[in-house]
Amino acid sequence: MTEEIQQLKEILFLPKEIAIISHRNPDGDAIGSSFGLAGYLKKLHHKVHVIFPSEYSTTFRFIRDIEQATIFDLEPDKARKILDNADVIFCLDFSGLDRVDKLGEQIQFAKAKKIVIDHHLDPEPFPDILFSDTEASSTSEMVFKVINDLGDMSKLDPIIGEALFMGMITDTGSFRYNTRPETYDAAAALKRVGVDDYWLCNKIFNTQKERHLRLLGHCLANRMEIVSEYGVGIMWLTKQDYQDFDIQRGDTEGIVNYMLMIENVKMAALILEQPTIIKISLRSKDDISVQEIAQKYFNGGGHKNASGGGVYASLKDVIHRLKKVIPEYLPKNN
Ligand code: 5GP
Ligand code: MN
Repeated sequence: MTEEIQQLKEILFLPKEIAIISHRNPDGDAIGSSFGLAGYLKKLHHKVHVIFPSEYSTTFRFIRDIEQATIFDLEPDKARKILDNADVIFCLDFSGLDRVDKLGEQIQFAKAKKIVIDHHLDPEPFPDILFSDTEASSTSEMVFKVINDLGDMSKLDPIIGEALFMGMITDTGSFRYNTRPETYDAAAALKRVGVDDYWLCNKIFNTQKERHLRLLGHCLANRMEIVSEYGVGIMWLTKQDYQDFDIQRGDTEGIVNYMLMIENVKMAALILEQPTIIKISLRSKDDISVQEIAQKYFNGGGHKNASGGGVYASLKDVIHRLKKVIPEYLPKNN
């Protein structure tokens, strides 16, 4: 048993007030790992609260108990109180306190034991116990492993399993990247517990609204530039697009990946003109590290092949900045 698992076992020995928090704009892995862990901890008779800094996409409404999550943007006092009262705070799918906005400081100075479970690069040193595995497909895969290492596989059920399986599906692009043997071991174990992955995939992928596909069409037809010299795809959406297409939270999720379907495209960027900030999503193939680009030029970070960031500048300036850094990271095609 590792030292971390031993420490965690001791902490969880008696019932506790537990807060689970994940990152802003929670994605499938943030939500899946949070509710997978929450379901498990409830079975150990802990009192568990899930907090997200901002709202989640309606796609995830099918996750059991998700409506009980506290959204800091909507109920800041309630979120702060939960963190104040917590004996234990689990931080899932992030390891930099800037990923939870104003709650970062509160977590840093909270009296609670802080436990991070995360697969992002460069974890910050704030937690008391750190489970960091940058090779893991997802935080959900890591939560599965923690439960397994605690000797509690028998506590898994289809509801916990579906949450964790969702995180693995979404963070691996349906098992297309970031996988390793342990990813499939976890998937197999969860399927054995009763996870219906066919049902789950329909819930995750086949529940789009018509306007979402129209938006994708607009992006592909009118908002995409391919810098073929370097094999880079750039897409952007303006404030006007947000109005014209009634873009809601989560609607732009996944769009950046379409550019990687082009044979020669090695890197893709989606640049979003949001009300106060320009958000950038970066994706790459093989050895090109968009994490470095996000960190160095766009106040962000993430993974080698999937990163993001945000800057206070104009849309035009951000596109210009990106184009300028391309030659530093990608070879010119002949
Ligand atoms: P996305 O492009 O889907 O928003 O995010 C891709 C990856 O980059 C995720 O792993 C996410 O955690 C990370 N990421 C996105 N935005 C930011 C940001 O503003 N700061 C940092 N540090 N990471 C980000
Ligand atoms: Mn993740």
